[in-house]
Amino acid sequence: MENCIFCKIINKEIPANVIYEDQYLMAFLDINPISDGHTLIVPKKHFKDLNEINEEIGGKVLVLAAKIGKAIVESFNFEGYSIWENNGHFQDVPHFHLHVIGRHKNNDLKIKGPETPYKSEKEHLQEIKAILSKEIN
Ligand code: 5GP
Ligand code: ZN
Repeated sequence: MENCIFCKIINKEIPANVIYEDQYLMAFLDINPISDGHTLIVPKKHFKDLNEINEEIGGKVLVLAAKIGKAIVESFNFEGYSIWENNGHFQDVPHFHLHVIGRHKNNDLKIKGPETPYKSEKEHLQEIKAILSKEIN
């Protein structure tokens, strides 16, 4: 897609430290890593975000994430790794990508705890189930 920075990397119009490439996927190092070996996995086809990808691509991305996670752990002696994916307001580059982040024991990547729900927790639970039942057939 025109003006998409990750499409430009995929098309080799701009450089990146590519660690893996096949017919469907590319994986390269994040330009602004939050830990050593921080890798982004992208489908070569432009999908905006998680809501746009299909089962085939989603499956391939996840399987590759495990392999890259293992390689990063081995290479940097991490104790483990996490995968991360941003959507909506939190997505900076609108070409679907999965972050693979190696972590040492003391790297707790804390997320803020629960906030008071707008409705009761039970109401939210019912609402979420109803929304999901429309999405999943
Ligand atoms: P998002 O917030 O969309 O999940 O994350 C986008 C990620 O892409 C960020 O971690 C950012 O550092 C990375 N990034 C942005 N532009 C470039 C680039 O030109 N090259 C590489 N390798 N990474 C990039
Ligand atoms: Zn793109």
